[in-house]
Amino acid sequence: MGEENSGIEAKGPHRVLVFCASSAGCDPVYHEAAAQLGRALARASLTVVYGGGAVGSMGALADAALAEGGQVIGIQPRFMSELEWTHSRLSGLHIVDDMQERKRMMLATSDAVVALPGGSGTFEELFEAITAKRLGLYLNPIVLVNQRGFFDPCLELLDRAIHERFMDARHREMWQVVESPEQVIAAMQSSPAWSREALGFAAVSGRSKA
Ligand code: AMP
Repeated sequence: MGEENSGIEAKGPHRVLVFCASSAGCDPVYHEAAAQLGRALARASLTVVYGGGAVGSMGALADAALAEGGQVIGIQPRFMSELEWTHSRLSGLHIVDDMQERKRMMLATSDAVVALPGGSGTFEELFEAITAKRLGLYLNPIVLVNQRGFFDPCLELLDRAIHERFMDARHREMWQVVESPEQVIAAMQSSPAWSREALGFAAVSGRSKA
């Protein structure tokens, strides 16, 4: 389907926002992991929210969730849909004006974020979610699927930011790291609670120790 606004308000509260690669050229093991995640979410009756693409890990995620009878909602900026990058069989598609609106809507309509290995687009979306959580604007779980240790350098950089006191040690609780897609749902469920009070320690004070 390809109508604007359809599907967004139609399903219940259990929506999982997935960030993943658009690349069709990466090792297919990454596409298979995206498909595993799509199947796992669909079997758990969780709605997948994602960028709406038909290729790479994005396409594999959506295809697998749909094949399992799951609901899949795409949120895509108009210019991408005009380039015909859109998956044609989604349960719902929301066409928005630009990338900023897309990210805002993705976070506003999701109950959890999952990041699979990907490129700059995946990093940007992941860090938008982490930054919003740090400011108490996004309170839901953020799970990184560290397949093949892909996110190790990213996690090292976050650790360094904490060690050098650009961030607070409490910020480590904002994300959970798992090795495989099968572990995602349990990680979401056991994620530590987060609250708007996070704004109180978003900026590291001169006195606290990392
Ligand atoms: P990357 O991890 O760099 O491949 O970026 C993934 C992000 O790229 C997506 O979330 C989108 O913002 C964007 N993107 C690239 N290709 C597509 C596509 N065919 N459909 C939708 N989004 C795409």
